[in-house]
Amino acid sequence: MSLPFWRTRDRYYRILGNICEKCGKEYFPPVSVCLNCRSTKLKDKEMPKTGTLVSYTLQRESMHGFEEQEPMIFGLIKLENGVKIISQLVDIPYESLNEGMKLVAVFRRIKSEGESGQIFYGYKFSRSRDTRLDGNTS
Ligand SMILES: [Zn+2]
Repeated sequence: MSLPFWRTRDRYYRILGNICEKCGKEYFPPVSVCLNCRSTKLKDKEMPKTGTLVSYTLQRESMHGFEEQEPMIFGLIKLENGVKIISQLVDIPYESLNEGMKLVAVFRRIKSEGESGQIFYGYKFSRSRDTRLDGNTS
């Protein structure tokens, strides 16, 4: 990663985006200028943990460091506030995925970092019956 992980950690831990204080449009990842009204007054906002699956894809070969998780499924998810994000999908067989199915963010190991053995965690999406991260944690 180009940025030290701690700088982007909140983004991965809490799905931290931002909201325009002028027009109310929400963003993830956060933006510095509102794409809707050009305002620069934006504040942090945690994204909803639930959404629906818009589309998905199976990736048989992954980026370096993620080989142990192959094959990986990635989905485009429309969150309850309308923001679309791309996330890895877990614990759902590829065959049983459906566009429009309800998903919920779960907190999972992202990867282990080389020799240091440091483990990074962040969000992934799973079936909505998984409620470990359901509800407001802020
Ligand atoms: Zn705006």
